[in-house]
Amino acid sequence: MIDTTPELNLISRLNLQKFSRLLTTFFILLPLSNYSSGQVGLADVELSIAPVAGSVYMIQRPGGGGNIGVQLGPDGVLLVDSLFAPLTEKVVQAVGKVTDEEIRFLVNTHIHIDHVGGNANLADRGVLIFSHDNTRLRFLEEKSHFPRAGGSFAPQQPTAARPPITFNDTLNFHLNGEEVRAFKVPPAHTDGDIFVYFPESDVLHLGDVYRTTSYPIIDVYNGGTLRGTVAAMDMAIDIAGPGTKVIPGHGLEVVGRKELIEFRDMILDIQGQVLKLIREGKKLHEVIAAQPTAAYDAKWTDDPGWGPADFIPIVYYQLGGGGRLADR
Ligand SMILES: [Zn+2]
Repeated sequence: MIDTTPELNLISRLNLQKFSRLLTTFFILLPLSNYSSGQVGLADVELSIAPVAGSVYMIQRPGGGGNIGVQLGPDGVLLVDSLFAPLTEKVVQAVGKVTDEEIRFLVNTHIHIDHVGGNANLADRGVLIFSHDNTRLRFLEEKSHFPRAGGSFAPQQPTAARPPITFNDTLNFHLNGEEVRAFKVPPAHTDGDIFVYFPESDVLHLGDVYRTTSYPIIDVYNGGTLRGTVAAMDMAIDIAGPGTKVIPGHGLEVVGRKELIEFRDMILDIQGQVLKLIREGKKLHEVIAAQPTAAYDAKWTDDPGWGPADFIPIVYYQLGGGGRLADR
């Protein structure tokens, strides 16, 4: 008789190890995937709607989520971005608190799920959706790429979410006594970024190019660039006057021109420090160790998913660190 017990023990030990590894992976990936799609606990979310200026309101999701711009009047309601799919009814209810008019139009500032997740539901209600050409192209990709966690994937949006009307430069709405301008900016957060300006109300929605909660999320997986982020912020600063109210993609407060300058200058300072280190021949880990964001970390790290360890490598590689010479 051959005693197989040690072998069996070995096999079961190996299986146990494998199982526990699988289990660990599962528990690591579960919160990660939920976090990247940002849809944790949406059933309990309460949305609020607050006036910004003139005919423009903002729908906020306490705790985060893409801020929705709402322009309303006798011609109907225009939305800028659509949050997550499970929140559409709450978005409609929030709009219903300030107007009886129908939601007619939706403009997407970019491809991310926390800004386009409600598209299909709103299209189903007869809302006409607009975006930049590049944003629609991103809807056609097999999976939706997400910048967090070193580039993660989320399931692609349904066909009904795709904007049927796209533009490559500027789109003007003549609505509610106002000429609403949606226009392309340099590839910053993504390559489909647009700003939406309401000149009469003097309100500017910047999508995720500008956030009050974190360093800029430059989504290189969806065509975002550092140089475009600075250029797009320059555009926003040029447009903004002393009284302009700015809706950030994320963050609960409306800001003004001063905050935009502060954000742009913060990026320029970090960029300058990283470029200096690259020119000294420093490797990425040495640049991170030099803490080029140290002066800003207290203010710009409210978002637990996007800190210096996420931001600095992007600045480093976008500036030509790691051997790329193009931008030096
Ligand atoms: Zn985004």
